[in-house]
Amino acid sequence: MARTVLKFGGTSVADLERISHVADIVAHRASKGEKLAVIVSAMSGETNKLVGLAKGAAGDALVGDEFDDEYDVVVASGEQVTSGLLALSLRKRGLDARSWLGWQMRMKTREGHGAARIDGFDEDSGLGAAIDTGQIAVIAGFQGVTEEGRVSTLGRGGSDTTAVAVAAALGSVPCDIYTDVDGVYTTDPRIVPQARRLERVSYEEMLEMASLGAKVLQTRSVELAMNHQVPLRVLSSFSGPEADNPGTWICNEDEIVEKQVVNGVTYSRDEAKVTLYGMEDKPGTSANLFALLAREGVNVDMIVQANARGEDRANMVFTCTSSDSEKAQRVLEANSDAVSFDKMDVARDVAKVSVVGVGMKSHTGVAETMFDALASKNINIDVISTSEIKISVLIDADYTELAVRALHTAFDLDAT
Ligand code: ADP
Ligand code: ASP
Ligand code: MG
Repeated sequence: MARTVLKFGGTSVADLERISHVADIVAHRASKGEKLAVIVSAMSGETNKLVGLAKGAAGDALVGDEFDDEYDVVVASGEQVTSGLLALSLRKRGLDARSWLGWQMRMKTREGHGAARIDGFDEDSGLGAAIDTGQIAVIAGFQGVTEEGRVSTLGRGGSDTTAVAVAAALGSVPCDIYTDVDGVYTTDPRIVPQARRLERVSYEEMLEMASLGAKVLQTRSVELAMNHQVPLRVLSSFSGPEADNPGTWICNEDEIVEKQVVNGVTYSRDEAKVTLYGMEDKPGTSANLFALLAREGVNVDMIVQANARGEDRANMVFTCTSSDSEKAQRVLEANSDAVSFDKMDVARDVAKVSVVGVGMKSHTGVAETMFDALASKNINIDVISTSEIKISVLIDADYTELAVRALHTAFDLDAT
């Protein structure tokens, strides 16, 4: 019988009762003959607590960046606890199970700490062979090991990526992501009760939705699934083990028969807008500015440049995450000789709202519908950016939910 990967998020393993329920689901799947690798997150709230402890111990050393390798040692511990607890709970049911930590399965990572990237894991670790014998592997998500043998972590939400990486390494086998909602919805069902579960969503759309704020899957996990053609599904861990639980399949675009123009509305409040007034309007200004920001690891998202009223001056607006904006501010203030401007303004009370859909490639009028819907609620658009399958706008954060609801209705996504 086939190898399968299952992953259970923080809410799904929040306490012993939930872990026992997860053990029932795993036991049921094993009873059908599936050879299982099961990835677990830390209990919900635990990683936040550990991040707080690491920051408390490190003081200013961790402000802004979280790249100290001891940070990873602290925050990775939450997943160690749940992997052991689930293995115990499975053994209690008479099943053969054992826990696997990142270093034990040699989940190798690179590119630093706090947000490492997976290079793959060592086949010699014996993980594949172990599950083929019928033993259930309970894997601590979120954690890996560097070339130097240090513990690393994959960034928040990283257990999704562990799961897909394991599925890819086991032969691009199916990967079921069990969570606290029963699939991927047209928007976050917690803020729009009329949101609808999608039967299928393309890798491409899911990638945009995740990177634009739909935190149901970590962006990197979708990218990995797309590159390795891992059949990925999101489904509920709150249903009974034998309940009908179709979830949402993330698949190739050609497997989707009915294509919607817009399939999802997303939002992100972790945004900041930096405005630089009175920059020199001459060749090389943008190159210098963005080279400096890139060197310091500031990930810039939207960019708008406009001529200022004075003849050889321009105003530059760019957006990045809130935490990156603190770094950007420090770097720009410290390098005013290399990048000159009259004044800098940083706004953190902004949000990005986006509509996503592969149908946009062949349809016109999406921007018009979007801007009309926002105008009808008197919501001002600050910055706009587009790609082939998405349109994003930056607005006042106070209007986030209102905007998401208005767009959900305007694109006919509300459940009837
Ligand atoms: P887990 O702890 O299982 O990893 P997460 O909290 O990371 O779960 O992700 C699940 C949450 O994602 C849901 O509770 C939901 O509020 C949120 N979410 C945001 N956008 C969407 C969407 N489009 N579809 C489904 N869930 C979404
Ligand atoms: N526990 C980690 C986090 O909260 C990883 C995960 O849950 O995916 O970010
Ligand atoms: Mg998650």
